[in-house]
Amino acid sequence: MSAITVRVPAKVNLQLAVGPLREDGYHDLVNVFHAVSIFDEVTAAEPGDVSAAAPPLTVRIEGESTGEVPANDDNLAVRAARALAGHAGRSYRADLLIRKSIPVAGGMAGGSADAAAALVACNELWGLGLPVEDLMEIAADVGSDVPFALLGGTAVGTGRGERLSRLETSGVFHWVFALADGGLSTPRVYGECDRLREEAGTDPGRPVASEPLLAALREGDAVALGRALTNDLQPAALSLRPSLAHTLHAGAELGALGSLVSGSGPTCAFLAASETHAAEIAAGLKNAEGCRAAVTATGPVPGAVVVG
Ligand code: ATP
Repeated sequence: MSAITVRVPAKVNLQLAVGPLREDGYHDLVNVFHAVSIFDEVTAAEPGDVSAAAPPLTVRIEGESTGEVPANDDNLAVRAARALAGHAGRSYRADLLIRKSIPVAGGMAGGSADAAAALVACNELWGLGLPVEDLMEIAADVGSDVPFALLGGTAVGTGRGERLSRLETSGVFHWVFALADGGLSTPRVYGECDRLREEAGTDPGRPVASEPLLAALREGDAVALGRALTNDLQPAALSLRPSLAHTLHAGAELGALGSLVSGSGPTCAFLAASETHAAEIAAGLKNAEGCRAAVTATGPVPGAVVVG
């Protein structure tokens, strides 16, 4: 096979419970991931330039905010491909092409998604035949959100978010995502969360999964899910980007069943009652302060899959 294309979804966190800062600099999390139908595509192709001087892995980026994505060895897709080659104990070559639709630095784990897609694509291109369990382990070393992008669906992550268990869900949920101008750095948002907690003297305690949220997912109850959505990083994202409060307020005014900042932001997520309701919310949000564009999506959807 001379080229393999993999499609991979964005995620929204339905619950992001952040425990106290650990000694290793991470936080214990309860992270309910939900894969939604905004997709990047990663193609891994046999390299055009096979000279000894050519780098073993190259990457090009097309689509959404390409200027903000590194087209070098720092790209998470390249890091993942390198980790896979290292695991196989050989140097392998590939030219990677990333077609981005997932907002960059938007709190929807686009970089992690591309890393997961590169693992699946290169596993196939290089004929390694590694089972998904092995890819999950390599994924966890590349980044804590990467294993979920392989798995897709809805899952709860504990530890740094990398220990994953699938969650049972019913039906389809309809979402609207309000994209903002510019991104927010995830480490900066965690830092602001710690700072706000210290300032207020609050002790977050051990994070626990929300029973009402898990029940709403099992029953496919969008109204109950809307009420149960929570994100401990939201106050920090709002502190760094106050205009997001206007976006969240606008979505609530438009009748969203629930609204929250997605992960570390600045993308905001709104749960709708139906496809039509989602289209109405998206149309209404277009004029909201702080909203660059609004897109509709559904979830859950599968993780990284070969499409060509
Ligand atoms: P998360 O929700 O996992 O915290 P995010 O969605 O906020 O992440 P990403 O889009 O994953 O953010 O990008 C974070 C940073 O990672 C970007 O600013 C970019 O410099 C870098 N990066 C490296 N590789 C990629 C990639 N393939 N796609 C997007 N960003 C990448």
